[in-house]
Amino acid sequence: PFITLEGIDGCGKSTQARLVAAALKHAGHEVVSLREPGGVAISEKIRALLLDPENKVMCDTCELLLYEAARAQLVHEIVRPALAAGKVVVCDRFFDSTSAYQAFAGTVAREDADVANALAVGDCVPDLTLVFDIDPAAAASRREQRDDAPDRMEAKGLEYQQRVADGFRTISREHPERVRLVDATQPIDAVFACVLAELAGVGLA
Ligand code: C5P
Repeated sequence: PFITLEGIDGCGKSTQARLVAAALKHAGHEVVSLREPGGVAISEKIRALLLDPENKVMCDTCELLLYEAARAQLVHEIVRPALAAGKVVVCDRFFDSTSAYQAFAGTVAREDADVANALAVGDCVPDLTLVFDIDPAAAASRREQRDDAPDRMEAKGLEYQQRVADGFRTISREHPERVRLVDATQPIDAVFACVLAELAGVGLA
């Protein structure tokens, strides 16, 4: 099975990804934990390009294709072989991030993002996608508490983050068979209890 975790920056998905991986291992599964963009050498190099704060000239089409290039390589090197070997793959972000960030919040047409996503992943579509839903202002104050370096998303402002959050909500409505919205304003334990219930729903944990 293939599980992806999605949401705006500061929604807590990386913490939940660690908890999910630990719970699944405890339940006896072989688990592969990944993050996007990145996860393998080529894709980590692409991540560095994408997130370089000095990078101020990259056009939106270049950005879209770099995300997809990183994703295609990750799918090819790790996701597909791991799933074929019966492992559980847990990925922190996947193609729904491209729809939410580059299309819903950015300038890329939705159809173009869909075509690019399909090209990158082929039939490697997640079995379960958890979207950690939180108001951007609440997520921003969490990041402050955590003392994170200001990220690109913060630089783009609250309105942008709101469009990303709304994009994820729309995606969850469009794909009820795959995508579950989790209330990420709750404390970590309560969020994880919701996550465990969703994992049980697909026969895991
Ligand atoms: O999840 P993580 O914090 O590692 O994401 C790295 C950065 O990349 C975030 O700031 C996020 O806003 C951005 N991102 C993006 N478009 C994507 C995926 C991530 O702008 N498709």
